[in-house]
Amino acid sequence: MRERGAPRLAWVITLGLGLASCRGPSASAPVSASAPASATTRAPAPIPASPSAPPEAATSPAPAEGHRVQALTITLLSTTHAAVGTGEWGLSALVEADGHRILFDTGSGRHTVLRNAEALGIDLATIPTVVLSHHHDDHVGGLLALRRAVVERDPAALATVHVGAGIFTPRRRPAQGKDRELNAMIAMRPAFEATGGTFVEHDGPAELAPGVWVTGPVPRVHLERNWSGGRLVAAEGGWVEDSLPEGQELVVDTDEGLVVLSGCGHAGVINIVTHARARIRAAPVRALVGGLHLHQATAAQIEWTGERLREVGLLELDAAHCTGEAALAHLAAHVVPEAGRAMELRVGERFTLASTPAGERTKGP
Ligand SMILES: [Zn+2]
Ligand SMILES: [Zn+2]
Repeated sequence: MRERGAPRLAWVITLGLGLASCRGPSASAPVSASAPASATTRAPAPIPASPSAPPEAATSPAPAEGHRVQALTITLLSTTHAAVGTGEWGLSALVEADGHRILFDTGSGRHTVLRNAEALGIDLATIPTVVLSHHHDDHVGGLLALRRAVVERDPAALATVHVGAGIFTPRRRPAQGKDRELNAMIAMRPAFEATGGTFVEHDGPAELAPGVWVTGPVPRVHLERNWSGGRLVAAEGGWVEDSLPEGQELVVDTDEGLVVLSGCGHAGVINIVTHARARIRAAPVRALVGGLHLHQATAAQIEWTGERLREVGLLELDAAHCTGEAALAHLAAHVVPEAGRAMELRVGERFTLASTPAGERTKGP
């Protein structure tokens, strides 16, 4: 294990194969998920100023007290670059919080996480719980193969999968192949359940283990428009632009603040932290880990995001997957207060929060 290194700002978005759903043509003008379709014509990229208090906070006071996780490790098993094993366009991470083990997302390739876990000496059969951030192929691609690889050794391994409400809703492309289903979760559901596994759908925050939460679908208070576009989702009255309404992230409550693990953050990272602070605990954001999907964002959007993250006291960024080189460079230079606390995590590297006053950030293996 080596200590925290200097920030590595080189961020090469490699071209991958297959249905990498988290990227695509650049988004057009921002629009909230609940806004009428005509709002998509507004330009350029208006993002509202942050209200002084999140609207949710007035109606949904955050619980003041709850369990605080003392020992937390988040180990990357799928992301762009690899210190151990293989990199890919996707995301997966093992979360270990006070002895509870959760697999957050399952990578893109069917066997990438399996092989990377083997290379790291991680036994996936010891993990009972999975959280899926959203339905995109680069986050759910490994689920079925992983479950099948462990079920004979332990039927309880990777058996319970927590998802946001709406993850099974049909998706289409707008122009061509409109009869072709793009949501792999629809076919995967019966195949996964045939192994004895179960999906648990969340429409709001839920505590999976003491101090470890899923956010449930995140309200789009700010018009961050943090998705690539180009797809439709079934809704009452017809097909509408797919803003990934089922998107949920993982939040770990610690004495030092909230640690937010994001898959792609399609709801927008500011909407995510606003929701977490309103509904889980109104604490500073100790760290952001994972994909923020700012790789297509404009400089203005990145700057706006940085200002909001400074307001919530962001201390550390461990970027992966779709965060983007420009966003990482900006947040490292202008938002994260301590040098060396904003960097890219590769496969095999990890965020660690020990029960020490300053915490401890180490990279592995
Ligand atoms: Zn995505
Ligand atoms: Zn993704």
